[in-house]
Amino acid sequence: MGSLTNSRLGSPVFTAESMAQCSALLAAPGTPLITAHRGPDGDAIGSALALWNHLREQGVDSRVVMPDHYPAFLHWLPGHAEVLLHETDGERVAAAVAEANVIFCLDYNELSRTGSLAPLLEASPAPKVMIDHHQHPADFAAITWSDTARCSTAELVYGWIEARGEADRISAATGACLYTGIMTDSGSFRFPSVTPSTHRIAARLIEAGVDHAVIHSRVYDTNQVHRMRLVGYALSEKLRVWPEYHTALIALSQEELRRFHYRSGDTEGLVNQALSIEGVNFAAFIHESHDGRIKLSLRSRGAFSVREVAAAHFNGGGHHNASGGAVDGATLEEVTAQFESLLPGVAEALAYQI
Ligand code: 5GP
Ligand code: MN
Repeated sequence: MGSLTNSRLGSPVFTAESMAQCSALLAAPGTPLITAHRGPDGDAIGSALALWNHLREQGVDSRVVMPDHYPAFLHWLPGHAEVLLHETDGERVAAAVAEANVIFCLDYNELSRTGSLAPLLEASPAPKVMIDHHQHPADFAAITWSDTARCSTAELVYGWIEARGEADRISAATGACLYTGIMTDSGSFRFPSVTPSTHRIAARLIEAGVDHAVIHSRVYDTNQVHRMRLVGYALSEKLRVWPEYHTALIALSQEELRRFHYRSGDTEGLVNQALSIEGVNFAAFIHESHDGRIKLSLRSRGAFSVREVAAAHFNGGGHHNASGGAVDGATLEEVTAQFESLLPGVAEALAYQI
């Protein structure tokens, strides 16, 4: 097994048969379309642009479409200027969907995760190809490449390129996108989902010319002063801790976000700060989004599954230790109270020491 792991870093889901099926789809007339989930994060946009860059370098033009915008700290990624946003460019997005011979579905496991884009994708006759690492993939794709053991979709896209026999052709541009996806979704290589294979892939990407220190700096060291003040406010004024339930919570209203000139991405990592408190095994960040929905980000460490909490109570899902959800038609106070009311019931499940 050791030699197998060494020679093949990617996932076993990329069988010869499914790879041949994908190549046949790509050979059909039309332009491949690459999509990811709404509120794209570093893994969504990183894996999408990695695929776009790699295909282009192999002579295949494709298009990248996202439901909506993503944080400015990801705008340096090679190919960013080519990305079409459905929220601002509906007509061109519809045209791109109409021209698709195949639709890559990256970093999501059900079409509803693409928000406003979902009806277009559902109506499109183009076969879907899912590359994803979320649990319980829905059955909508012609090819479902799902590996929940992987820390990121970007790691899977590396595996896809490798399965095509093209790992040696990964450019510094493609590598930078892959590295960004892996780094952001693995908490900078710290989550339990990181494996020896993750590190071997990262090593390969650095060998391909990726400057890991620059990427880290572009993603994590580009704070605006407003953002620092928002984080300071959230931690000093809004953090609630229930030591008896091993739980911490930060909730922010639209008014509060606006006061600190909120921009997409500004609250990223807040929930992890709450989780970093000694003795806390369950943390939540709840905020009122601009469309009035109440969004939740849930995190845990250890055995407690926040995916189950998100699915059972907040119309959401995700991973065992990182999940999210959204509630329509309720106030921030109501959702916060609902969250708080769950705590006595899960107190026992949270009473462990890491
Ligand atoms: P975040 O807290 O970073 O927004 O999301 C963490 C993880 O939770 C994501 O990677 C995604 O898997 C999942 N997630 C977030 N929001 C939702 C949602 O509304 N529905 C579902 N099914 N999963 C979500
Ligand atoms: Mn991901």
